[in-house]
Amino acid sequence: MEYDLLIVGAGPVGCVVAERAAELKGWKSLIIEKRNHIAGNCYDRYHESGVLIHQYGPHYFRTNKKDLLDYLGRFTEWIPGNYIVKSSTRGELFPFPINLITLEQFFKRSFTAEEAEAFLEEIRIPNDHITNSEEFVLSRVGKEMYEAFYLGYTLKQWDKHPTELNKSVCGRIPIRFNRDTRYVDHEYQFTPAKGFTEMFSRMIDNPLIDVRLETDFNDVRNEIKPRIATLYSGPVDAYFNFQYGKLPWRSLDFTFTEYQQEYVQPCVQINYPNDHEYTRSVEIKHVTGQKCPNTVVSYEVPKSEGDPYYPIPADENAQLYLKYKELADLENKENKVYFSGRLARYTYINTDEAIEMALSTINEIIRDADQS
Ligand SMILES: Cc1cc2nc3c(=O)[nH]c(=O)nc-3n(C[C@H](O)[C@H](O)[C@H](O)COP(=O)(O)OP(=O)(O)OC[C@H]3O[C@@H](n4cnc5c(N)ncnc54)[C@H](O)[C@@H]3O)c2cc1C
Repeated sequence: MEYDLLIVGAGPVGCVVAERAAELKGWKSLIIEKRNHIAGNCYDRYHESGVLIHQYGPHYFRTNKKDLLDYLGRFTEWIPGNYIVKSSTRGELFPFPINLITLEQFFKRSFTAEEAEAFLEEIRIPNDHITNSEEFVLSRVGKEMYEAFYLGYTLKQWDKHPTELNKSVCGRIPIRFNRDTRYVDHEYQFTPAKGFTEMFSRMIDNPLIDVRLETDFNDVRNEIKPRIATLYSGPVDAYFNFQYGKLPWRSLDFTFTEYQQEYVQPCVQINYPNDHEYTRSVEIKHVTGQKCPNTVVSYEVPKSEGDPYYPIPADENAQLYLKYKELADLENKENKVYFSGRLARYTYINTDEAIEMALSTINEIIRDADQS
């Protein structure tokens, strides 16, 4: 069988590229996927207890782009994303990210927005030359809240001290001077009504798209030659046989526990900065909206070996990635291989960003094909 595109990885990037190629150009694609399912890390499935779970960690879909929501809306109905997170510290549950309610509960006094800003101004540790995550958080909220909410979580999550991590690691988390308890600020916060796997499955349900599961690219790379291009969304270092060494990733162990009660947590996610080996417990039912008498909670324990989940944001890793990127650029020029997605670009991106990246990559493939 001759294919126009060979697509490595049936995650969001692979599925979007295949769908757009079929829809815009009538191109035929073969997607190969080494796991036994599609949807990449967005994969959700029914646990043996009947509860819908997110296999690779909770996925809170959000975007600021209406176009993106409308595009995905062709393949799913949406329900509101009920993304509420609390942090368990000092024996209490606090709203997280930090907002006025967190400050009031933590300091046992009331605040207006102006009073809270003035208060943080007094306790924060100003720094004009912030170089790492510790300095960043200290400069925003001071020592006491840094130690209660950030330090322990960061140590567990990364096995590194916040002084060793780029300021962007903790810098991603907002601090709010209002009573908004949602986890993220994005304009559109929705979850696919029947789950992510169902959404991606509808996306690639097309006679022009074939999928081969449990097939590793390395086993077929010399057999399948596409007519137009290869889209590679696997790890960039693996593509080049780790010739400059391995790009480091942080991984996670997930343990799923069933409970015979409707809910066990007050919200979808509880962070444990200072207790337990696990960093967070997730009861995704709060988000999926599933109605059933039992529930499943997943517990995440970070580790350094295993599936690649989070690239480690340190300068030496960025330098190593740049060496692979040079090879990838050359491979693109010489053999029409396009590297796209979180593994191929060694970057942490959310699902909306991965989809945007895929849309831009397919435009690039089409432009190059039209020009040749
Ligand atoms: C723990 C965790 C929590 C997350 N939470 C959120 C969230 O709350 N909200 C959000 O929007 N995003 C979240 N994300 C991010 C989201 O999972 C990614 O943005 C998205 O999955 C990226 O899509 P992708 O196609 O680039 O990669 P992936 O989803 O990783 O898909 C790549 C696919 O390629 C396959 N593959 C790799 N190598 C090969 C090979 N050699 N041969 C064949 N197949 C191969 C893999 O098996 C995988 O299925 C989270 C990610 C993680 C890890």
